[in-house]
Amino acid sequence: MKTQNAARGHALVLGASMGGLITARVLSDHFAQVTILERDAVTAVPQSRKGQPQTRHLHGLLVSGLETLTRYFPDLPDALTKNGAIVADMAENMHWYTYGGFRQRLHFGANAALMSRPLLESLVRQRTLARPNISLCDNTAVRGLVTSADRTKVIGVEVESRGESAQHERLSADLVVDATGRGSRTPQWLTELGYTAPAESAVKVDVGYATRLYRRDPDDPFGRDWLLSTPEAPKESRFGGLFPIEGDRWIVSVGGWAGDHAPTDEASYLEFIRSLSNPDIYRIISSAEPISDILAYKFPASLRRHYEQLERFPQGLLVLGDAISSFNPTYGQGMSSAILQAAALDKILTQNAVAPELLARTFFKAAAKVVDIPWQLSVGEDFRFPQTTGPKPAGVDLINRYVAAVHRATRFDEEVGRAFLKVMNLLEPPTSLMKPGMMWRVWQANRAHPRNSPSEQTPTQETSVVTA
Ligand SMILES: Cc1cc2nc3c(=O)[nH]c(=O)nc-3n(C[C@H](O)[C@H](O)[C@H](O)COP(=O)(O)OP(=O)(O)OC[C@H]3O[C@@H](n4cnc5c(N)ncnc54)[C@H](O)[C@@H]3O)c2cc1C
Repeated sequence: MKTQNAARGHALVLGASMGGLITARVLSDHFAQVTILERDAVTAVPQSRKGQPQTRHLHGLLVSGLETLTRYFPDLPDALTKNGAIVADMAENMHWYTYGGFRQRLHFGANAALMSRPLLESLVRQRTLARPNISLCDNTAVRGLVTSADRTKVIGVEVESRGESAQHERLSADLVVDATGRGSRTPQWLTELGYTAPAESAVKVDVGYATRLYRRDPDDPFGRDWLLSTPEAPKESRFGGLFPIEGDRWIVSVGGWAGDHAPTDEASYLEFIRSLSNPDIYRIISSAEPISDILAYKFPASLRRHYEQLERFPQGLLVLGDAISSFNPTYGQGMSSAILQAAALDKILTQNAVAPELLARTFFKAAAKVVDIPWQLSVGEDFRFPQTTGPKPAGVDLINRYVAAVHRATRFDEEVGRAFLKVMNLLEPPTSLMKPGMMWRVWQANRAHPRNSPSEQTPTQETSVVTA
């Protein structure tokens, strides 16, 4: 049972992107009133905003993220489908080329969602704002925290509203949640208040995206397929994704690690796509009509702020989503991580067993558990590239050798493929791939299909989507 707890009063959520919206939804069960503060102007129509430039690029929602969002918004999958998004079994329409061939397609039994990020967000926003005790103030930039005189409690924020004339005011709150993304200023605000800023782990990957939209024939028999090309690192460094999205469009994002970025001029862009190991992305794109410019996005480093390690933290303040941890986006985990963190907060508030002064400590420990898994997965893979720098997890080279064998085995063994997809979708921990029975299957698949066997010489014929 939820604690519809008027005694908890007023919560302020900073940022109206995916992390802020799901947090507001969660808090609306526990606080009398929830107000979301967003610096940008927010329109009712699906649209990328200045404060979230990444939303113009390929975004898929993993199974764990979709299932958790659906708990809060039960009609979301239907609404996505009605609006032209693809909500479908994670693995039936998968054309994922990696480690010399296509991973086996299989019935996974759970759905993921493909759509433009603005569409997903607008549907989540509509449903969040339909709650009677949630309101949104857009054009409102948060400039700082307001604390009690002894600075032990956050009791509100200072905002600048950007109407015709800028106005400064103070808003009071019983809880403030910072969901302002990677550029969050909480570390700086903490220092100004005499607290220690959280330690940071930064893993430099130097990834660059370039994205374009294309028209999709609604009768295209491959129009529900999602295509990926991921590198056998470090000998390859390029990735590509082609997803069907609403409005009979394809979105394609391509790029690479360690500075191997995709160019944005037409001819070189197509040439880059042609160089991907999954040939079907180029085959589809080369005969489709482009309907947008080619947009670039650079992602220098994955960044984690270790709030869970802080000894002192003011009461009445939490941080969530990319503001805690932003991952190399090629693994598609960021939204799901934010959603799972919000669900963890819900669980803590529902149990109602934590004193207000212990809420931050309890939440940051729970959020760290959520973040640990996608961090381990993405950083682990990134350290396949010798150019990656930053805190390297112990034993990662050895684990990566095994995971390379897992990647190869997913091409031949459905059970290994299913186990891998569960981990990738944040449904099972990576250790589930290390169970003896699974290791045996991985070994068997690799032994039956040695690297230089004839099937390795013509990998693209295995399940190539489109024939010329
Ligand atoms: C290229 C790229 C591709 C990605 N692909 C995927 C994917 O396929 N799947 C996936 O799950 N994730 C993906 N991600 C990650 C995903 O976009 C983020 O994890 C997600 O947006 C995090 O949401 P957030 O709400 O925490 O932060 P953000 O989305 O960064 O939002 C922060 C919000 O706070 C607002 N704000 C900032 N400062 C202030 C202030 N002072 N006052 C008020 N408001 C403020 C901003 O305007 C913005 O609206 C990708 C990321 C990138 C870079």
